[in-house]
Amino acid sequence: MAEDLKDADVVVIGAGPAGCTAAEHAALNGADVLVVERKEEVGVPVACGEFLPSVEEIKRIFPRAGEVDSLFDFPASLVSLKMERLKLYSPNMRLFEIPFSAYTTDRDRFDKYLASKAEKAGARIVTGCAYFSVEGGEVVTSLGKVKAKVVVGADGALSRVASSLGLPKNKDIYPAITAQAKGDFEPIPEMYFGNIAPGGYAWIIPKKDGANVGAGVSPGFARERIGDYFDRFVRWKGLYTSKPVGKYVPMSGPLIRTTARNGLLVGDAAGHVMAVNGGGIPIAIICGRLAGEAAAANVLKGQPLATYEKTWRDRVEKPLRTAVRTKKLASLCFGSQWRLGAAMSLLGKRRMANMIRCKPVFP
Ligand SMILES: Cc1cc2nc3c(=O)[nH]c(=O)nc-3n(C[C@H](O)[C@H](O)[C@H](O)COP(=O)(O)OP(=O)(O)OC[C@H]3O[C@@H](n4cnc5c(N)ncnc54)[C@H](O)[C@@H]3O)c2cc1C
Repeated sequence: MAEDLKDADVVVIGAGPAGCTAAEHAALNGADVLVVERKEEVGVPVACGEFLPSVEEIKRIFPRAGEVDSLFDFPASLVSLKMERLKLYSPNMRLFEIPFSAYTTDRDRFDKYLASKAEKAGARIVTGCAYFSVEGGEVVTSLGKVKAKVVVGADGALSRVASSLGLPKNKDIYPAITAQAKGDFEPIPEMYFGNIAPGGYAWIIPKKDGANVGAGVSPGFARERIGDYFDRFVRWKGLYTSKPVGKYVPMSGPLIRTTARNGLLVGDAAGHVMAVNGGGIPIAIICGRLAGEAAAANVLKGQPLATYEKTWRDRVEKPLRTAVRTKKLASLCFGSQWRLGAAMSLLGKRRMANMIRCKPVFP
């Protein structure tokens, strides 16, 4: 509601997983928090594969993340379907089946749940309000100006806050597109590599009453529009889907700087994405908590925001950097179906399981 657009200690831009979690934890730690979201409705439309690793897998991927059980303790109603394996298909359709415990959610309800937690902690959320810039200590939005002591940029891959704060921006951003398909699907996600989605992959991720279907491609290897790859994949699999929704995924790993004197970046805005698979929700939530705590400590105790930079790097940077290195190696094969197929065969199931979990492929 626009009447909630009042000055705040901490103004968070974006009500995705990173922004809502940051807002919740800034408020829990005593700060007065305002969240500004340009969409009219939090979580809508859904541009996400809606796939989440189990908390055990999150601990395997990010062993230094700190206490994560409470962060990822979601109500059972948010779990659409649980899964224990993944199927990876090479360009020549060789199948690699990998144990991986995960579940799907409905991302619109998921984001709304995180927003409700932020509100319960005391944060105010104003939707239908676009962030434009920071001028002096004032945040300029489409609905007016508000004063802020700290600005949290949780505004996604193309972050405008990053530019306002003089921080770097994501460089390597991949277009990705997704839609819902009706029908019965085996409860195992399928990922297809090769020309079907050059430099990325196409997916079918089962849900309770259907599946999330999508594709993401590297701009360096794709020769057509992302929608053309998606249409071809859906036709090939004989699926009927809802209208697809697209967005960008930052794939160059975490930014080299994510804090300024009066603001910080978190989630996709900070490049907090696993470059080997494009997944970003778990890191957005892990780093969202750290961002919220740091923003509150800055406002209430004068602690420099740079402590956030140090903390998130200690907790999650190593696996994220490993993922970037693996993706760079994989890029050597993306130009040739044959090379990619041969590389996947050479790696085999065990090494690909390491790769998916952001572990070194060749220890
Ligand atoms: C097609 C696709 C499929 C994906 N599948 C998965 C998956 O299955 N699992 C997974 O873990 N990750 C997946 N990801 C990545 C995941 O969606 C992101 O990493 C995650 O959403 C990051 O959360 P965030 O809060 O940082 O950013 P976002 O969720 O992008 O939230 C940013 C918010 O900021 C708002 N915003 C932007 N600019 C402004 C502005 N100027 N003013 C006000 N508000 C603004 C946006 O409207 C948005 O609500 C996928 C991404 C794509 C594109």
